[in-house]
Amino acid sequence: MPALTQIPLTQLPAEPAISCSNCAACCCQLEVMLITDTGVPQRFIEADAWGGEVMKRLDDGWCAALDRDSMLCSIYEQRPLICREFEMRSAECQDERRGMAAIYR
Ligand code: SF4
Ligand code: SF4
Repeated sequence: MPALTQIPLTQLPAEPAISCSNCAACCCQLEVMLITDTGVPQRFIEADAWGGEVMKRLDDGWCAALDRDSMLCSIYEQRPLICREFEMRSAECQDERRGMAAIYR
C-alpha cells in the first residue's frame, strides 16, 4: 500500500475572497430605513408599518433599486446612508452571505 502523503496546505483551494462582485447582493434583502435624504427616487420608497420611509422591496425579496441583471445597485450615487455604512467583509456582511449560502451551491 502506498504511503499516505500529506497535502501541503498551500495546495488546497483557497476560499474565494468576500467581495460584492461574487455576492448575490445578500444585504439588499434587508429592510433599509431612510434616515437622511440622499436623493433616492420616490418610486423606490414606501412607508413601513409605523409611517417611516424604507426602501421598497419587490416580491422576490430584493430591494426595488437593485438591478436584477447585474445584481448591483442602480442608484449607487443616491443610495441610502444605511447602505453606505454597511461594510463589505464586516460581521453583518458575512452573516448575510451565510444566510443565503444555498444560492452558491
Ligand atoms: S456588502 Fe457583503 S452582503 Fe452586501 S453585497 Fe457586498 S459582499 Fe454581499
Ligand atoms: S439602495 Fe442599493 S445598496 Fe441599498 S439595498 Fe437597495 S440596491 Fe442595495
